[in-house]
Amino acid sequence: MDRVILIKYGELSTKKGNRNFFINTLYNNIKNKLNEYEVKISKDRARMYIEFKDQELDKIKGKIDKIFGIHKYHIAYVVDTNIDDIKSKVLEVIKDVDFKTFKVDTKRSFKEFPSDSLETSRIIGGYILKNTNNITVDVHNPELLIQIEIREKRSFIYLNDFQGSGGYPVGTQPKGFLMLSGGIDSPVAGYLAMKRGVKLEAVYFEAIPHTSLEARNKVITLTKKLASYTDSINLHVVNFTLIQEAIYKNCRGDYCITIMRRMMYRIMERIVKERNGYVIVNGESIGQVASQTLVSMSVINEVTNVPVIRPVACLDKLEIIDISKKIDTYETSILPYEDCCTVFVPKHPVINPKISIAESEENRFDYQTMIDDAVKNLNTIKITDTLEKEFSELL
Ligand code: ATP
Ligand code: MG
Repeated sequence: MDRVILIKYGELSTKKGNRNFFINTLYNNIKNKLNEYEVKISKDRARMYIEFKDQELDKIKGKIDKIFGIHKYHIAYVVDTNIDDIKSKVLEVIKDVDFKTFKVDTKRSFKEFPSDSLETSRIIGGYILKNTNNITVDVHNPELLIQIEIREKRSFIYLNDFQGSGGYPVGTQPKGFLMLSGGIDSPVAGYLAMKRGVKLEAVYFEAIPHTSLEARNKVITLTKKLASYTDSINLHVVNFTLIQEAIYKNCRGDYCITIMRRMMYRIMERIVKERNGYVIVNGESIGQVASQTLVSMSVINEVTNVPVIRPVACLDKLEIIDISKKIDTYETSILPYEDCCTVFVPKHPVINPKISIAESEENRFDYQTMIDDAVKNLNTIKITDTLEKEFSELL
């Protein structure tokens, strides 16, 4: 074996007490994601190493780039830890690279190695100069940075840094339930929550026939895209039709959205509690629409004690859009199908709702029974990023 993918944990290293748990979770996540490839994965406290087949490298990199908890990785050449092997390997590695200036940067974590980091860099640098033409050292701004890591048995040489997704491995936090609409904001919120290690399930409220099957398919596609950052995501589809109709029949127009969202939160609370979750995650962003003023949020939030995580609360729409493009959900999100919020939007939703009015309006109908029914009749689909069935077959 000539090369390995060498993974650095980054931020994990600060989690002293939890270190093994973090590393083991990352290890399992990597193993799951790469199960279709011929790889051998090993780990120690500082690094993870993946042996791979050359022809599968691009695909494997594509997967690695979406695994949270990896901050940086390298495609590294492997040699036995002795200076002669390192010298000749370095020459071999750089022979096809086009550069005029270089610098050698050595990290020696194996302290018994005869020369220290600086000295090793000097030895290797001198050896390169002796065996090449028209190349000079530039310690400040080299065209080529040759990095060497000296470890006990094997040492590693690499010329490139690849940025990973960062964050914490998915599963280092327990379950959160994402309110996933077909819009731009909620998939981004889900992505950001997963990035902090939250194991995600998604909940979609639909109001067929007022909302279309296309709208549902859009949410399924979005879930599939989010699932590429983890192994799978359960998508729970709530039939919200009767509740929504009752709201619009019985309640004051300007309070309909406030009440609708209070109903959603009540249902979310039930789902979270019944399925061992800890938090609700959603795409609310302060001030973006009438239901997302701080006053609205507090009146809506008042129906539950389950913590609500709002990863995009303080981002501008353009910042959210940037992330949605980066995670490839944008094009799906802007498809023009109505979701259950847009169908019933009143002309002038209240911006500063009052709890007392929301309560008296929603008490005009028996919402508790409807919520029980909605929770009982949840449809759940397990979604992976490789899901290829016709979406209509799934429900
Ligand atoms: P998005 O772009 O995510 O649709 P939005 O700006 O359209 O958000 P709202 O429609 O007010 O905002 O919804 C705020 C949040 O409530 C959404 O980000 C989402 O988390 C949740 N939400 C709204 N509608 C639904 C739905 N039909 N099913 C599940 N969650 C929903
Ligand atoms: Mg929306």
